[in-house]
Amino acid sequence: MDAKGNVNFDVNTYNTKEMIQWCPGCGNFGILTAIKMALAELKKQPHEVVISSGVGCNSKIPHYVMTYGFEGLHGRPVPVAEGIKLANHKLTVIAEGGDGDGYQEGIQHFIHVMRRNHDITYIVHDNQLYGLTTGQASATTLLGTKTKTTLHGVIETPLNPILLAIDNGATYVARGFAGDIPHLKELIKGAIAHKGFSLVEVFQPCVTFNKLNTYEWFRERVYKLEEAGHDPRDKKAAREKAEEEVLTQYKKIPIGLFYREERPTYEDQLPQIADKPLVEKQLEIDITPFLKKLV
Ligand code: SF4
Repeated sequence: MDAKGNVNFDVNTYNTKEMIQWCPGCGNFGILTAIKMALAELKKQPHEVVISSGVGCNSKIPHYVMTYGFEGLHGRPVPVAEGIKLANHKLTVIAEGGDGDGYQEGIQHFIHVMRRNHDITYIVHDNQLYGLTTGQASATTLLGTKTKTTLHGVIETPLNPILLAIDNGATYVARGFAGDIPHLKELIKGAIAHKGFSLVEVFQPCVTFNKLNTYEWFRERVYKLEEAGHDPRDKKAAREKAEEEVLTQYKKIPIGLFYREERPTYEDQLPQIADKPLVEKQLEIDITPFLKKLV
């Protein structure tokens, strides 16, 4: 902040005093930096932003970003974010989850938030296993991967969160890579600026427990949709791109913005908060007419 009280926004604006407790080299560091860079470039004041999280290595994010934060229950960052947005829709609300947290424990919330189109951003740190509990298979672990819970290799088809999001009503669907911070930052910026529900799924190498999906593994396979001429308004093309990794047996994995559309948000359609946020309204409610109806 300068002498006149103006904030000079950069990544340091959002630093906290918490000691970061991730393994050296973890993909979470790249995501954390990208989030701070995106907030700085959007000139978001710390008090204008709330980050909610569930349980997992990623869930420490609210402690490491100088905004409001809420670390809640496993799989529940999305309903907490929905509640915050309904209480004060002027806030920028970001939910942070992982593949175990968001695509298994919290899968029902993921599905319903998309069809409602709440104006929130959901960043999923997808390390393709449960990192905090030392490496069990998750919904996105690739077929055949041997983990502590799949000694003979995974036999379940991995969830495709991008395809699920496109088909289930998400209005901004993107995927980034923690090893490409400038690109990821742009996707997060676009997601926060988007009016409606935005998903930013992120490949986040877990350097301690995932010995298959490493930085090198992704670098050899990922390519950028925007450089390939993909039109994110084309839903059919977005679906095709979402299936490309499976159809090419993971030889080509697209990252970037898959799909975007404009649709009224949940908050836009609530006359109760059309004039001002719920938190700014008086709490005096006369329930007499309601009680009279009951007798
Ligand atoms: Fe990151 Fe994996 Fe370590 Fe968790 S266990 S902090 S996901 S490297």
